[in-house]
Amino acid sequence: DADRKRILIGMSNTGGGHKASAEAIQAAFQERYGNKYEIFIVDLWKEHTPAPFNSMPDTYSFLVKNAFLWRFTYEVTNPKLIHIPYLSAVGSFVSRGVHEALDKYHPDLVVSVHPLMQHIPIRVMTERVKSGAMPPTNFATVVTDFTTCHNTWFCPGATRCFVPTEYCRQLALGNGMAPEQIILHGLPIRPSFSRPLSSRRVLRRSLGMATGLPAVLLVGGGEGMGALEETVSQLDARLGDKCQVVVICGRNRSLQERLRARPQGPGHVLLHVCGFVDNIHEWMGACDAIITKAGPGTIAEALISGIPILLNGNVPCQEEGNIPYVIDNRVGTFETRPDRIASIIASWLIEGGEEQRAEFTAMGRRAKALGRPKAVYRIVDDLAALADEPCFDFGPAAAALLGQRSGAAAT
Ligand code: UDP
Repeated sequence: DADRKRILIGMSNTGGGHKASAEAIQAAFQERYGNKYEIFIVDLWKEHTPAPFNSMPDTYSFLVKNAFLWRFTYEVTNPKLIHIPYLSAVGSFVSRGVHEALDKYHPDLVVSVHPLMQHIPIRVMTERVKSGAMPPTNFATVVTDFTTCHNTWFCPGATRCFVPTEYCRQLALGNGMAPEQIILHGLPIRPSFSRPLSSRRVLRRSLGMATGLPAVLLVGGGEGMGALEETVSQLDARLGDKCQVVVICGRNRSLQERLRARPQGPGHVLLHVCGFVDNIHEWMGACDAIITKAGPGTIAEALISGIPILLNGNVPCQEEGNIPYVIDNRVGTFETRPDRIASIIASWLIEGGEEQRAEFTAMGRRAKALGRPKAVYRIVDDLAALADEPCFDFGPAAAALLGQRSGAAAT
């Protein structure tokens, strides 16, 4: 359809978050603008690069489960001095794939929701614009990490860079981006989180939960990571039938089966076991608190839902800053030992005195105040404007940088 503007969102399935953000943006576009924009979500690494680069998402899954290897890879590539030449070298192999994607989709705007999709696509686009192979086209980065994030997110060649927090804005500035290139709206979270929800009581009834029992939600990202089973055991031992626990196992099937086999009934915690759900906003609305790894998506969603957050772990490096973020904003705490986690939940939900109860309520209020349910719409409105106005303004610093690099690549 020639009348529809085309937006290419480049992502990669390294962890669930990039895909979730891309889909949130797509859903908000649909809600806001109907069919005016055509959105293509493309895994540029998997679908448009040759081996071995197309196996990078699988390599990530392996690396991130091996903390030492991941930290090593992350830290070694973090300095600009390393990753710019590294990406240039990789770029000479993968740029053909980016050309293919641009030929196939003819985008009016290119959006990246992945830390490794700035430098190469921008360079390829610059070359194409220079050679007349494509019209001037804007490029936007939407950062999907929350605080600490890899420097490859920030390329001064991007027209705009959308960041979720002030911490990220400072990192962008430190990486040479100009203040006017950086926009702070928040993380793009699915539109279902910005619609009004039924009361907690009504939600509990519709989800098959007990209406009068305190409830805690236990999640480990899309993959059901972390010591979830041991945490359920400790909550069971500590709280018994004074509490109900909802465990969202995501794609972790064996965890789901093991939890379903646990003893139930009098004296035991009332357990609700789910696989991968698409109504996490309802479960969050139905529960009093959440225990989760420090994933950006889940933290941002819990803030919008206004529930205190007990962080029980994190992916090394890019999720590390999310822990002080939660603690410093006094919306939750961090504890990795399942027995201590059970004690904190007991004091939050059941055994705490008046003062602790008041502090728990205040944490929920502060969370709600920090949440940014409208961020996804603000991002989408800005992206729509970028798709409509064909300016190709990489800024003088970026032009110099890109000029030098494409010059170097040509020789
Ligand atoms: N999620 C979901 N259903 C599930 C489990 C997780 O929709 O059953 C979503 C969750 O709401 C969040 C995302 O998956 O939006 C997980 O993102 P996060 O950044 O927290 O962690 P990741 O899995 O990317 O490491």
